[in-house]
Amino acid sequence: MKPVVAIVGRPNVGKSTLFNRLAGARKAIVEDIPGVTRDRLYDSSDWNGREFIIIDTGGIRFNEGDIFAREIKLQAELAIEEADVIVLVLDSREGITAEDEQVANLLRKSNKPVVLAANKVEEFKKQLDYYEFYKLGLGDPIPVSAMHGYNTNELLDAVISHFKPALEYEEEGDAIKIAIVGRPNVGKSSLVNALLGEERVIVSDVPGTTRDAIDTPFQFKGQNYLLIDTAGMRRKSRIKETTERYSVIRTLKAIERADVVLIMLDATEGVAEQDKKIAGYVHEQSRANIIVVNKWDLVEKDGQTMNRFDKDIREELKFLSYSPIMYVSALTKKRIFQVLEIVNFVAEQHHRRVNTAELNQVINEAMMLNPLPGGGGKRIKILYSTQVRVAPPTFVFFSNKPEMVHFSYLRYLENALRKNFGFEGTPIRLLLRQNT
Ligand code: GDP
Ligand code: GDP
Repeated sequence: MKPVVAIVGRPNVGKSTLFNRLAGARKAIVEDIPGVTRDRLYDSSDWNGREFIIIDTGGIRFNEGDIFAREIKLQAELAIEEADVIVLVLDSREGITAEDEQVANLLRKSNKPVVLAANKVEEFKKQLDYYEFYKLGLGDPIPVSAMHGYNTNELLDAVISHFKPALEYEEEGDAIKIAIVGRPNVGKSSLVNALLGEERVIVSDVPGTTRDAIDTPFQFKGQNYLLIDTAGMRRKSRIKETTERYSVIRTLKAIERADVVLIMLDATEGVAEQDKKIAGYVHEQSRANIIVVNKWDLVEKDGQTMNRFDKDIREELKFLSYSPIMYVSALTKKRIFQVLEIVNFVAEQHHRRVNTAELNQVINEAMMLNPLPGGGGKRIKILYSTQVRVAPPTFVFFSNKPEMVHFSYLRYLENALRKNFGFEGTPIRLLLRQNT
């Protein structure tokens, strides 16, 4: 599991600027999906080979009407609860304010590792010295300029110095790890309870077989599954109060660990902005996934209802064009076992390896049908293709001029691969390399 780094601080100190700088460092062109990448609050990133999740808590709104001070406090609490390292951003031009002190007090009591980012340092000239921030009692402030990128390397070094050593943890055997994600009240716990309450489902109650006590191992038709709890689903009442506001981070962690993610929507509400963000994250993390539309029992249907839903969902979640959509009811249990069958299927697709000869044949045919445009006199060619890994299926195309192969052409090749091999429910990656 990747460590979580949370950025906290009062408004306007530069949290989101810093977030973009720290998160945006590494972005592969082939995976830059329009509509997914903008305006996000969390991302995964890496520094010196250590991967981590980074979150801008400033963007998480808890309660629309709330006063600022309370909002900041909640954000800090969220960071304390769920993050491994907290970056407290301060404005060097303004020095310490009462709100800074309030947050610092909370952080000090938490005993979580805190890194102080003294931001906007390119502008301080006169009296104000970021050394003032030593007074907060949270260690050395690191002067940075999020806007200009000054010293952010040093900041990242300090952040990863607090990570625990990367553990080699054991895999949970042959179990397919499932995460169910979605907004509060879409019916996640209801689906879990409907599945686990069935006689045909064998729920193991052996504790300690998994790393996380709230995961549930179960078996259905001879297949082992591990259900990753995303928001205290099975012990809802006890932590109801804290559940909702912590669920974003729990959700991200669950996605990281899952083989297959069920992206749950409420049939009566359609696709919300939050759904898009979570779905975008699932896609970018290259997890196999299924779109599960719940509460289908509440929808008044005619012969075209499902088609209309399909169309709307495809429109809203364009980047998940490869994901199966299922219409279920956790209440009446309609199609809930079919969900498990599709889980098996997409997990298989996610691990699918295709034969190299067949692959090259498919790519050659696609290139014949729609040749690569010429590049400055010399033809651009893809000479050879190979699948280098599974989960997700990843293909490398060797070209004489890899830099000239346009993004849209890779899209075309992806479609050709999907048409011939399927890969339903799994993202696939296409990489270009120089042919040597
Ligand atoms: P947030 O509310 O904490 O997320 O703050 P923002 O990231 O939105 O930044 C608030 C304002 O400070 C914006 O106008 C930024 O352009 C500006 N800002 C952010 N980082 C820096 C910096 O390093 N130097 C200067 N001069 N301005 C910055
Ligand atoms: P969660 O917050 O995503 O775990 O959602 P819950 O499982 O707690 O469900 C929220 C509400 O929706 C509860 O009142 C459920 O009884 C109801 N609900 C869940 N699934 C269905 C369904 O398939 N049909 C109907 N009609 N109601 C459902």
